[in-house]
Amino acid sequence: MGDYVNRLMAQLVAKNPGEPEFHQAVQEVAESVELALARNPRYVDAKVFERTIEPERVVMFRVPWVDDRGDVQISRGFRVEMSSAIGPYKGGLRFHPTVNLGLLKFLAFEQVFKNALTTLPMGAGKGGADFDPKGKSEGEVMRFCQSFMTELQRHIGQFTDVPAGDIGVGGREIGYLFGQYKRIRNEFTGVLTGKGLKWGGSLIRPEATGYGAVYFAEEMLKTRDQSLEDKTCLVSGSGNVAQYTVEKLLDLRAKPITLSDSGGFIHDKEGIDREKLAYVMDLKNVRRGRIMEYAEKYPGVDWTAVDPAKHYNPLWAIQADCAFPSATQNEINGEDATNLLAGGVYVVSEGANMPTVPAGIEAFLDSRILYGPGKAANAGGVAVSGLEMAQNSARRAWSRGTVDERLHAIMQAIHDTCRRTAEEYGVAGNYMHGANIAGFTKVADAMLDQGVV
Ligand code: NAP
Repeated sequence: MGDYVNRLMAQLVAKNPGEPEFHQAVQEVAESVELALARNPRYVDAKVFERTIEPERVVMFRVPWVDDRGDVQISRGFRVEMSSAIGPYKGGLRFHPTVNLGLLKFLAFEQVFKNALTTLPMGAGKGGADFDPKGKSEGEVMRFCQSFMTELQRHIGQFTDVPAGDIGVGGREIGYLFGQYKRIRNEFTGVLTGKGLKWGGSLIRPEATGYGAVYFAEEMLKTRDQSLEDKTCLVSGSGNVAQYTVEKLLDLRAKPITLSDSGGFIHDKEGIDREKLAYVMDLKNVRRGRIMEYAEKYPGVDWTAVDPAKHYNPLWAIQADCAFPSATQNEINGEDATNLLAGGVYVVSEGANMPTVPAGIEAFLDSRILYGPGKAANAGGVAVSGLEMAQNSARRAWSRGTVDERLHAIMQAIHDTCRRTAEEYGVAGNYMHGANIAGFTKVADAMLDQGVV
């Protein structure tokens, strides 16, 4: 690590104590950006990176709501507006008990580079609340969403800040949030993405992140003249990203064999086929059940509960070719990365944001496997959000084929940009440096053009 990164990190940690995920995300990008700063002293003089790590604006607010028993509950809501250098703030909302300011700053920071890579004009933001939708009734979820939006609506708008979903925020929550925005503001605009198809949503938006992560893996494999056909794949999570990762893997004749949630994971040696995937979608999106039920329904499927005493996740120790971490941040630690490599995995395409800890990334890079970092591999979701904004502005709806084709082309372009940038900077094959540098230079050039703001 160079002097620049050491100094920057010391200042960042001192100024933002207690935000470990944010520190981790900045450090990873800073190490790449150092290569770009060495070639462009204007970035250094204008303190472009130092500005990038300071959010343009943070809003933190009380979200009071009444539960089904009539008790008053108080949650904490946030919106981190990180960068508007290349477009309106754009990024998801997360409802999860672990949500805090540092976590959202990490996600908003990642979003800056991801959105820049998509080729579309989108700045970056992230928000959410420490509300846990799990186990809540429909009425409670709706009342919470309405209270959350009652405050958030002052800060967002189709030309200002356009939120979307993330963990705990799917089609149902976006519907309630949109309804409340419309009611208060008396306007029907594309202020949120991930909307329902009958009221301004885009085809392929629910599928986009998972499909995109698989397209990215496919592009990485092409560099070795290989395809996904017959590849055994580990997938974690069982939410939006995981479900559509499995669907696209099946389209491309790969064999997904695992899924998980916060209770544990299932291992289906026969492979998760379309009928079983339909069962998972109903289980998770309609019945809102636990993935353990999959092992009860299908004989021969292994269920492994989370064991807090274990230092590693046995899911990542299963023999396979490819891994698609699609649950949450830091779900692959150093030991997990070693297990993945020992089990034969040579393709990792990150559907989740920052799912691999730094020691794990180092292990992947050292072993020169095909490692697609989240900000490149999972950019398909926000890319189709950008396409949803374009359709809303044009008052048009494109066909499924058109959106999927554009998504595919964008993922190919992102892959190409990361690969080429890595080569240009003398780190061929390192998609992490490629993604960070390409995303950074686009935003940095816009910031130079716009002066010190
Ligand atoms: P989701 O539909 O809410 O699903 C999340 C899945 O991950 C669930 O199976 C959940 O299990 C599991 N999970 C969440 N937190 C966990 C934890 N702390 N420990 C273990 N399991 C956990 O969310 P999603 O939209 O698929 O998002 C998954 C990941 O992809 C996140 O990192 C998100 O930031 C990233 N991402 C999403 C999008 C998008 O378009 N949705 C775009 C880019 C990146 P439980 O139900 O048991 O909690």
